[in-house]
Amino acid sequence: MKSINKQPVLVSGASMAGLSAAFWLNKAGYKVTVIEMAKEPRIHGAAVDLRGETIKTVKRMGIFEQLRANRLNVEKMEFKNSDDVSEGVVILNNGNLESLQDDLEIERETFVYTMMNLLKDDIEFIFNDSISALKEAPHEIIVILKNGPQRSFQLVFGCDGMHSNVRRIWFGEEKNYTYFLGAYFSITVLNKLLIPENMMQMYNVPCKGVVLNAYRNKTDVIFSFLSDEEIDYDYRDESQQKKIIHDQFAGEGWRTEELLQEVFLCKNFYFDKFCQVKMPSWTKGRVALIGDAGYCASPAAGMGATLSVEGAAVVVAALQKHKGDFEKAFREYNETFLPFVKEVQDMAKNNIKENFIPKTEADIRRRNAMTEVF
Ligand SMILES: Cc1cc2nc3c(=O)[nH]c(=O)nc-3n(C[C@H](O)[C@H](O)[C@H](O)COP(=O)(O)OP(=O)(O)OC[C@H]3O[C@@H](n4cnc5c(N)ncnc54)[C@H](O)[C@@H]3O)c2cc1C
Repeated sequence: MKSINKQPVLVSGASMAGLSAAFWLNKAGYKVTVIEMAKEPRIHGAAVDLRGETIKTVKRMGIFEQLRANRLNVEKMEFKNSDDVSEGVVILNNGNLESLQDDLEIERETFVYTMMNLLKDDIEFIFNDSISALKEAPHEIIVILKNGPQRSFQLVFGCDGMHSNVRRIWFGEEKNYTYFLGAYFSITVLNKLLIPENMMQMYNVPCKGVVLNAYRNKTDVIFSFLSDEEIDYDYRDESQQKKIIHDQFAGEGWRTEELLQEVFLCKNFYFDKFCQVKMPSWTKGRVALIGDAGYCASPAAGMGATLSVEGAAVVVAALQKHKGDFEKAFREYNETFLPFVKEVQDMAKNNIKENFIPKTEADIRRRNAMTEVF
């Protein structure tokens, strides 16, 4: 019988999926190393949501109370017209946080700091490094690091996000697994409030949307637009990406001109396509992908963190159930987690055109008329 006891395993990426995987692997008895490309834990980016069964998972991890104490509290979402008049309002939690039993919205830093504190004494963290090659041998997997020596592990977990390095090295090029959803977005997090705190506002013209999301003295400014074709751009060239946003939105109504100025001046800017990762298997040999690396559903899902945290729990539970027999465990992970991934990915695809970026004026008016109270 195989044993988990102190087998060395490597996790690539120290974010939602990676820190969750590290937690469960450590608890199961593996000797865990986490390698992260950034110089320090990455805490920036849009807020994330933990929902449904994953609330039970974070309770089992013992971090629920700490996350809940730092939860965000978006109270209201307004759909604006070009005169800044609200055409529709959704009250998100009726002002009652306790009513939200199965939904926890938190800043990424809340999760990352909570997990780093929990794991720092038990787990080896390597920052500012990355895997450059993997070689599978009969009883181990050899990992060649960019800045460090060659090392040997029993298993490798690719938790390195949408543009996963482990996926590219071990499973093949990104384009083989990514599916363009016909839209692009940019997000800029400003360190000031442009609208009252705990509020979201959305403005649309056909095929384009602008969202403001205000919390804790910050405002996320999100531009998004539909595009039938993929746009050819340099992912390292921020000014080129800002120009794409500017060209799409210049001359549009509401507060667009002011927001374009803010985004132009701000260093904190992220641009990408809405796309999903779909793979025939998230595992190959001794390597498994977790989170966006294996099954990114796109920001339109609002479920990326849930998938990442849950996926980590599911794969390690399978390893424990099969007493470290990774072949059986990885098969079970692929089979049992797929229905949930499919459900979330389908929902995200519909969300883009129905809710975030309606195609016509009529669709926008219909969406704005929605005043459902959750
Ligand atoms: C604009 C936007 C809005 C979003 N809104 C929401 C939302 O409302 N709710 C929600 O739940 N989710 C949301 N998401 C999605 C969510 O952020 C992701 O699904 C989630 O962060 C995925 O976690 P992950 O750990 O798989 O990947 P990531 O969080 O992307 O983390 C990957 C980690 O791997 C590291 N890494 C990358 N390359 C390497 C390498 N070569 N070697 C080592 N480390 C590496 C990165 O530095 C990072 O720390 C949004 C995403 C975006 C972009």
